[in-house]
Amino acid sequence: MWCEKCKHDTPHSVCELCGSKTEYEPTTEVHWCCNCNIPVIRMENSADRDICPICGGEAKYLASDLRTVFPEERLLIEILFDKPLAYLHDSVWANNNRYYVNGKSFTISSKHFKKFSPEYIINKLEEYRSQNSYADFDKHISRFIEANQERLHYRIDEAHSFIRQEASNYPTENIVLSFSGGKDSTVTADLAVKAMSEPSLVHIFGNTTLEFPLTIKYAERFRNDNPLAIFRTAINREQNFYDVCEDIGPPARMMRWCCSMFKTGPITRILNRYYRDKNILTFYGIRKCESVSRSKYNRVEDNAESVKIQKQKVASPIFYWADIDIWLYILGENIDFNDAYRLGYDRVGCWCCPNNNERAQFLSSIYMPEQYQKWREFLIGFAKRIGKLDPEVYVDTGKWKARQGGNGVKAAEDVKIRYTNCTAEDHAKVYRLNRPMDDEFLV
Ligand SMILES: [Zn+2]
Repeated sequence: MWCEKCKHDTPHSVCELCGSKTEYEPTTEVHWCCNCNIPVIRMENSADRDICPICGGEAKYLASDLRTVFPEERLLIEILFDKPLAYLHDSVWANNNRYYVNGKSFTISSKHFKKFSPEYIINKLEEYRSQNSYADFDKHISRFIEANQERLHYRIDEAHSFIRQEASNYPTENIVLSFSGGKDSTVTADLAVKAMSEPSLVHIFGNTTLEFPLTIKYAERFRNDNPLAIFRTAINREQNFYDVCEDIGPPARMMRWCCSMFKTGPITRILNRYYRDKNILTFYGIRKCESVSRSKYNRVEDNAESVKIQKQKVASPIFYWADIDIWLYILGENIDFNDAYRLGYDRVGCWCCPNNNERAQFLSSIYMPEQYQKWREFLIGFAKRIGKLDPEVYVDTGKWKARQGGNGVKAAEDVKIRYTNCTAEDHAKVYRLNRPMDDEFLV
C-alpha cells in the first residue's frame, strides 16, 4: 500500500506516519493490439484496458511485463532457430526466456543455448550483421511510444513530483545519484536531473572492476555527454578479483563476498569521504518488481542498517515501474543507454555474478569469449582443487554457484566470517571477511 502524502510504502491501509488512507498500487498489465502490432501498457483495473489507444481496436492481455528485443538479440535468437532474419520485419518483445513475435509466443531453453558452438554463432552473427537493419524495429518502437504516450507522461509527472518533494529537504550538493551503468540507474539519473533542472548533480559510478566492457564504454560516453555532471567513480583498486578467488574460492549465491568488497564497500567509502557528517539523499534505481528480495524494500529508506551509511536517505523514483516502463522512458525520451541490452542481457551487473541466469552466461560466451573462457578455466581448476570428480560438469551446470561454506579452501576456513546484508539483495547472506575493511584498506 502506498501513502501519497508521505510518499511511503506500508503494509497498512492507514499510514502509520500521517494517519491518512493509503492507496493500492495497481499491477501493470501488457496488452497487445493486433492491428498496430505493438504492446499497450495498462493498469489492471483501468476501464479502457482492452482498447488500443491508437486504432480503437481490441488490445488483449498478453503478459505481466515485457522488455524490448533489439535487432541484435533478435538475430541471435533467429540463428538459434536456424532462421536468420526471419523476424526482421516483425514486432519482437520478450519476458525472460519467452519471446513474443507479433504477439505470438515461444520459449527459449537451455537446449537452444547448447545447440551450436560459440564460434559458429559468432560467425553467423557477423555474416548477417550488415543486413540486420533497425528500420522496422524503429517503426514498431515509434508506434509503441505513440500508443503509450499517456502512460509515459503519467510516469514522468509522478516521478518528477516525487523527486522534487524528496529533494526539497536537502541542499543540492547533498544529493547523490547512484549510477551503475544499468538501465534503471540511467532512467533514475535522467529523471532526477530533469525534475530538478540541475545538470551538475553528483553521480557516483560504482565500478566493480567486474563490469561488462560495454558498461565501461557507456559510463565513459555518459561522462562525455554530460560534461556538467559531477562524476565520481567508486572502485576498489587494492584487490584483484582473481587473487581473492584463489585465496578464498569464487563467490557463490550464499557467499557473495564480492558485493561488499567490490561494490558497496567502495561506494560507502566514497560517500564517507565526501559527506562524512552530512545528511545526504541518494536517488537509487531500485524497483519493487526486480526480485523477491528487493520487494522488501520501500520506495524511501532511511534505516541506517539497510542503507549502510549513517545519515543517508535512499529514494527510488522508479520504484513501481515495470521493465516496459523503463524501456518506454529510454526510447520515448530518446536517451542513451548501455549497449549490452541490445545484445539480450536483461541485467547488467558483474559478468561473474553467481546470480546471473543461464542466458547471461550464454551471451557472455559469445560477446566476451576471452573473459568467459578465463573464468571457466579458473572455476574448473578450483573444482579440481576442492576434489570434485566431474569438474567440467560442476562448472557448466552452475553447481559452483550453490557452494556453501569454506568447502575445502583453507584460507576461507581461517578467515572469521560474519554476516552482513548486501544492499542489493536482502535475502542472500553475504559473507564479509572479518579483516579490517576500513578506509585505509580500500583506498
Ligand atoms: Zn491498435
